[in-house]
Amino acid sequence: MKKIIEILRENNLEELSQTQLDRLKASEREKIEKDSTRLYTRSLYTREGILYFVAKEDGEKSLYLCSHRVLPEDFTGQVEQFGDLFLKKAPFSTDNAATLRTVFPFTAPVSLREKRTTIGCGDRLGIASAAHIRAIRKYQAYPVLAQQSIRELNFTNRTFKRIVADAGFQVFQEGYEDGWGADGDHLKSIEDVDTALQAGMPMITLDLTETLHPEAVRWDEPKIEEEFGELPQAVRKHIDQEYRDLVFENRGVTVRLPRLEARRCALMYLDALDFAALMDRHIREHRGEAYDLEISIDETSTATLPGHHLFIIRELRRRGVTVNSLAPRFIGEFQKGVDYIGNLEEFEGQFAVHCAIAQAHGDYKISIHSGSDKFSVYPAIGRYTHHRLHLKTAGTSWVEAIRTIARTEPELYRRMHKKAQDFFPEALKSYHISADISGLPDINTLRDSQLEEYLDISESRQMLHISYGGLLRDSEIRGPFFKALSDHEELHDTIIRKHMEKHLSKLGVKKR
Ligand code: ZN
Repeated sequence: MKKIIEILRENNLEELSQTQLDRLKASEREKIEKDSTRLYTRSLYTREGILYFVAKEDGEKSLYLCSHRVLPEDFTGQVEQFGDLFLKKAPFSTDNAATLRTVFPFTAPVSLREKRTTIGCGDRLGIASAAHIRAIRKYQAYPVLAQQSIRELNFTNRTFKRIVADAGFQVFQEGYEDGWGADGDHLKSIEDVDTALQAGMPMITLDLTETLHPEAVRWDEPKIEEEFGELPQAVRKHIDQEYRDLVFENRGVTVRLPRLEARRCALMYLDALDFAALMDRHIREHRGEAYDLEISIDETSTATLPGHHLFIIRELRRRGVTVNSLAPRFIGEFQKGVDYIGNLEEFEGQFAVHCAIAQAHGDYKISIHSGSDKFSVYPAIGRYTHHRLHLKTAGTSWVEAIRTIARTEPELYRRMHKKAQDFFPEALKSYHISADISGLPDINTLRDSQLEEYLDISESRQMLHISYGGLLRDSEIRGPFFKALSDHEELHDTIIRKHMEKHLSKLGVKKR
């Protein structure tokens, strides 16, 4: 803490007003360093005679409070006195994050339902948000910094509270006051929704997989008639009246929903839509209108037909469900961390229809899951959505973090690569990808300078992408991996920032 005091005194920081601090923050000087101790300039805030900031000592970031008077007790941490100055080092705990939110409300996640373009960042490591902010704040877009599914939480030994805290501290480090989101991703039960709400997460992505009846997609006419006949009379009457050979037209797009197909939709979706209505009411009771609800039907085995999308949104609206975004399953393959696989023209044709449906039914955002690295389809996505969209990119920042390792710590990279190969069959049980890793070049034959190429080959990129659970829970990898990322913080930040900027610019999102 001595070095911190030296930085403060040499720059006279503890005496500056907020206006003077803001001037310093507006300069290009992102940090002030003394030996290996570093103070993050944009985190400098003064409130009621206390100077707050983020700094890194001995490779570890913490929140610091400094004042001429005794410091308040509500942040926990170690206090030292240096002459007439008190300095407290408050670790990045979930409790300190909660206290920080009371002093600086912008460190709490908010609903982004009014924001046109939102990007789900999904930082699995809890250290990429700063770089995500640096990229996104240059564009007319807003970040959902925290975004994890229950599966990701389990694989990384984290909690919703932890990911919200991690993002909040980085928001503070970057002095980012424009608002950010936090998404409980792919939640399937009221218990999981509650855990996310209790952690203060304003966005819920409701995964309807478990309440859907996808088997009905293959049923023939007699089977549909038989099953439909079992539904309550009021439901049958509503479906037959409402969808008497429905024709939808908007922006030169026509979607037909013949009666038989509407009956099929009823069998496939009504249970799921009732569940969505229940969850929507539940979330509203907790948060008023300050939430974002995303309806996700993307984890199915077949692409969402436009007619089905139409049925789903009409029935959601009929149930009064707030739909801020909806994730269909698109035609072709959106696999983790690699470009779109499929026919571009076919994708574009069907994507345009999904957008026309969304625009005519409340203009909700089309949400693109496994949306990272789909550079070949971004121009079409930007064009048809007019940038009213949500793009989820979780996982790609983890792969790009590994790029930092490949470039700077070849031995560690080799170890990670081999472990990922070993772990791959296990990881495949949780993720659907088509990568065949048997043809990858043998890692022992590559020179150090060639290791990074693995990150640009689809097969190894996907292998590393889905092996995070095994790698991050491996005691021989975890410690050295995080230490390396801390040692090479600047390179890591630059790689993550540039990768995110590439997404935004290919989507055609305007700069601020
Ligand atoms: Zn999804």
